[in-house]
Amino acid sequence: MLSVVVPCYNEAEGVEATIRTLVDVLAELNAPYELLIVSDGSRDKTFDIVASLSKENPDRIKGIEFSRNFGKEAAMLAGLAYAKGNCAVTIDGDLQHPPQTILEMYKMWQQGYDIVEGIKEERQKETWLHRISAVIFYKIFDRALGMDLGNASDFKLIDRRVIDVLLALPERSTFYRGLTFWTGFPSAKVEYHVNPRTTGTTKWSTMKLIKYAINNIVSFSSMPLSIITMLSVIMLFLALWFGLRALRLYFTDQAAGGITTVVVLQLLIGGLILLALSIIGRYIAGIFDEIKGRPRYLVDKTVGSHMDLGPVGPEQKNTVDRNRKKEQF
Ligand code: UDP
Ligand code: MG
Repeated sequence: MLSVVVPCYNEAEGVEATIRTLVDVLAELNAPYELLIVSDGSRDKTFDIVASLSKENPDRIKGIEFSRNFGKEAAMLAGLAYAKGNCAVTIDGDLQHPPQTILEMYKMWQQGYDIVEGIKEERQKETWLHRISAVIFYKIFDRALGMDLGNASDFKLIDRRVIDVLLALPERSTFYRGLTFWTGFPSAKVEYHVNPRTTGTTKWSTMKLIKYAINNIVSFSSMPLSIITMLSVIMLFLALWFGLRALRLYFTDQAAGGITTVVVLQLLIGGLILLALSIIGRYIAGIFDEIKGRPRYLVDKTVGSHMDLGPVGPEQKNTVDRNRKKEQF
């Protein structure tokens, strides 16, 4: 069975067309499927429309509504949590991702790929500012983590074992696009053409996009913290240089009275504060890495009997115990 997860935020205008198109396309699938429409705290009729369509066909069309807007990442994860399929596709609710591509992804999955990434043939029409920020954001990911996410999107198919891994991750801030890459399971790519939006407007404000970018970098890397360390080293070198210069001026009687002390103290204190900050930063980085509690490894295959621990190694079992997680909240 295939589960199709559709995050929707204020998509009342288009959600019916989306569902009907998906149903038409998936008729060609020759396999059972379910549509999981996750309304991300929509303030319009999105959920009501889904609910009425669901009455016609409750086995295939299912809806989830959030109490408020939790963001697209949360919506996708919720859909995956409810999914009963052996694999799941995540697709936008505005038909910008062509549903036909799902059939192609499904074929790749049948060939044994666990992740089938939808790759944009070209980026949509965007403002130059948006385009430049996207390039910088993905360059950072490329450099810091060796992930080439340039034309990646949230349109992808993942196997049941990838779903289970994603759901078991204890972290609260997730980046779907990067996490599927992080699991490292066999993956394939399928190119698709981004359609223009026909109904509604984009749900991402510039502020929301900036927050999204910063969150994703911070949840994946502690590189920003190392920048402070580098700054403090540069600062100390500068302090040394200017300090020596101020002292030379003092001893050659070229300095105005008292200025040397001020300069040297300023530089020294500034440098020390930055150094202290950077040390604190290192500790926070350590805590940060710990608190995420990601399993240290994921087992791809095993051989022999009684090896059915699943994709997560035995000593990690506790960290990813979902019942324990439930108790905490
Ligand atoms: N979306 C969501 N929650 C949000 C923002 C967006 O569920 O907080 C959904 C939205 O309804 C759409 C998908 O995520 O189905 C992609 O959003 P959008 O089309 O606005 O982004 P764009 O295509 O402009 O990047
Ligand atoms: Mg869109």
